[in-house]
Parts: sequence; C-alpha cells; structure tokens
Amino acid sequence: MTYRIEVDRDVCMSSGKCVADAPDLFRFDDDEIAEPVPGAPEDLAEPRALDLARACPSGALRVKNADDEEIDLF
Ligand code: SF4
Repeated sequence: MTYRIEVDRDVCMSSGKCVADAPDLFRFDDDEIAEPVPGAPEDLAEPRALDLARACPSGALRVKNADDEEIDLF
C-alpha cells in the first residue's frame, strides 16, 4: 500500500524540516508554510511517508491512504 502526505497549514510552524528532507515533495509557499510540490508523487512507500511525518516538529504532516483515511504515526 502507498500513502500521500497532507500539510495542516494551521499547525505548520515553518521549521523547514520536511522541505529539507524531501525537496521533491515539499516547498514553502509565500507565507513560508509547507505545501506539496506541484506534481509531487502521491504514492509514497510507507516507511518514507511515516518517517517524514514523524519528523515534523509540530505534527503538521498527515499520512493518508488511498481511501483518504489518516494513518496513525506512532
Ligand atoms: S516539518 Fe512540519 S512544521 Fe516544519 S515546515 Fe514541514 S510541515 Fe511545517
């Protein structure tokens, strides 16, 4: 199974962790809030998706499956 990651804009604290760790997936928008890179893959392997989301210091990254269900990170 593969996963995609969503950014909760209200929770992102602009640490830049996801942008640094996965520049192919995330960038900063004009407000310096993380957003998905346009066209970024939405079929991430589980280890990568969970590792990226777990590393977000504010818990702003949500991992979802193909049925749009949120996956527990821990
Ligand atoms: S790691 Fe989390 S807090 Fe940092 S920029 Fe990404 S979404 Fe925002």
